[in-house]
Amino acid sequence: MPPSPIPGQTPVYEDYARCIHCGLCLNACPTYRLWNLEADSPRGRIHQMIHVAQSELNDSRGSGLQPRHYSAKVGASASEELQSAGSPITGSFVDHIDKCLDCRACETACPSGVEYGKLVEHARARIDLEYERPWLSRVLRNFVFHDLLPNPHVITDFARIFRLYQRSGLQAIARAIGILKLLGLSERERFLPRIDDHFFYRRYGWSYPAAGPRRARVAFFAGCIANVTFSQLNEATIRVLTANGCEVVVPKGQLCCGALAAHAGVRDAARELAAKNLSVFLREDFDAIITNAAGCGSTLKEYDHLFSPDEPEFAQARAFSKKVRDVTEFLTELGLSAKLKPLPLRVTYQDSCHLLHGQKIREAPRMLLRAIPKLDFVELPDSEICCGSAGIYNVTQTETSLQLLAEKMHHAQSTRAPIIATANPGCLLQLRAGVRIHRTNQQVLHIVELLDRSIRS
Ligand code: SF4
Ligand code: SF4
Repeated sequence: MPPSPIPGQTPVYEDYARCIHCGLCLNACPTYRLWNLEADSPRGRIHQMIHVAQSELNDSRGSGLQPRHYSAKVGASASEELQSAGSPITGSFVDHIDKCLDCRACETACPSGVEYGKLVEHARARIDLEYERPWLSRVLRNFVFHDLLPNPHVITDFARIFRLYQRSGLQAIARAIGILKLLGLSERERFLPRIDDHFFYRRYGWSYPAAGPRRARVAFFAGCIANVTFSQLNEATIRVLTANGCEVVVPKGQLCCGALAAHAGVRDAARELAAKNLSVFLREDFDAIITNAAGCGSTLKEYDHLFSPDEPEFAQARAFSKKVRDVTEFLTELGLSAKLKPLPLRVTYQDSCHLLHGQKIREAPRMLLRAIPKLDFVELPDSEICCGSAGIYNVTQTETSLQLLAEKMHHAQSTRAPIIATANPGCLLQLRAGVRIHRTNQQVLHIVELLDRSIRS
């Protein structure tokens, strides 16, 4: 195959050919369930990616793929679009790939082991390189992925501005006079998280001793936006870990994990962030590197995808990834030693896609909930279907995100649980917006916040 212009690992023929077109993934795919369109199904999207990869190979006259082999077996709509396309990266291709949540539910459903996440992220990287998005979209993407997320001081400055907006009454005024609606921002503004009074960045460089005999020494990965919107969750995570015998170090110099950039196909930004985090976290020997964000954990465990085997970071990424643990995974592996007091609450649980489908962790969060005395755990119907958060999907594909959220809140209400638990800050934000929009009067908490309450109550 010709060398790919996209740095990092490149899918090969076998990665695409693993799709046997059986369609068992279709009903697991949120966008296919909504629209019933082949082109917005995992199988249809893979077919479109094959077409793009095929064009690349044909261009270099190194073809081993036969497009007719695929086009005969997928739905007509996707095929027709592809056959009529001139350039492989068409607006239609971009649209179908953009509409994918990258939730990876199709990976869980697939009997053939298709690594869909790897394929879609590569497709997005190619779009980022070769397709010219509208001007405003380019400016915003450039700012978010190159200026905002990699720079804690820019995140802090913006957080202060938004905090002023939220606390000074400007937000209420903007909503009341309808200026947000006029600017087309009223739907998106509903997802704006409440900015913290104190930012978690101040904890960087701190160490927290274990309560009682030390059972493990761990590093805590704090995230990026979570530092200004989920400081209390991060503090609760540290309390739960220390209460269970862990010494917790918050390494200074850590940056955003790069998940949002990798999912959006901005691979150079993701690689820079990954390289920096590798150098920070591999400076010391920790028993584990802990995250409370399933979206971050999934990318941290797959840092090696961002580098090719001949780059020095590749081996570092493999060593690093072996130590990364979601906090729920780590606590169940370690075993809870802190005394849990009763929490007589009915709680339901929404699986985070990047925990369930990205990291294949289903039981650990449920085991922790069941470990809390008197907590009445009730399963959420369709908990494995994405809530519509999906990184920045609720901002870029707001209407679809709201549709998925409405269905999620309907199921959440059917459980009659006053508390919805989840394991990812992105899902927390989405579900909290859902509670406000649908007025369900429920509380949305991370699993470690429930454990923290149980330990401290
Ligand atoms: S389940 Fe797997 S093999 Fe079957 S169509 Fe979907 S991606 Fe392809
Ligand atoms: S990642 Fe999610 S939205 Fe995208 S094709 Fe797979 S199941 Fe559908």
